[in-house]
Amino acid sequence: MEDCIFCKIAKKEIESKTVYEDDTVIAFRDLSPQAPEHVLVIPKKHVKSINELTSEDTALMGHIFTEVLPKVAKELNIAEGGYRVVINTGEDAQQTVKHLHVHLLGGRKMTWPPG
Ligand code: AMP
Repeated sequence: MEDCIFCKIAKKEIESKTVYEDDTVIAFRDLSPQAPEHVLVIPKKHVKSINELTSEDTALMGHIFTEVLPKVAKELNIAEGGYRVVINTGEDAQQTVKHLHVHLLGGRKMTWPPG
């Protein structure tokens, strides 16, 4: 996707503070952190949102949830204390970047319901 900012980050056309990367996924610090630790985990391939995932993405999403998120949380030292994982999807959820991204937030006490 030519105009997608997260595709550009995945292709290193835009700088990011990368905390994890492999063949299919990149994780980088959010530009406007909402917690002491705030990282975005994205698939490198362009997928607009959860709504556009297909059965071909099962391994990719499984990789993000079973391997990448726990690994990054551990490296950020928030695995034990706890953290929040958020995927904003669509307009009502205020998804602003139309490339699926998983927010990983930690390092402070979270509130519920989220604001
Ligand atoms: P969402 O509202 O769920 O679509 O979240 C998009 C997130 O992307 C926001 O938290 C932004 O601060 C973050 N963001 C936008 N552009 C960049 C960028 N170039 N590098 C890092 N984070 C970004």
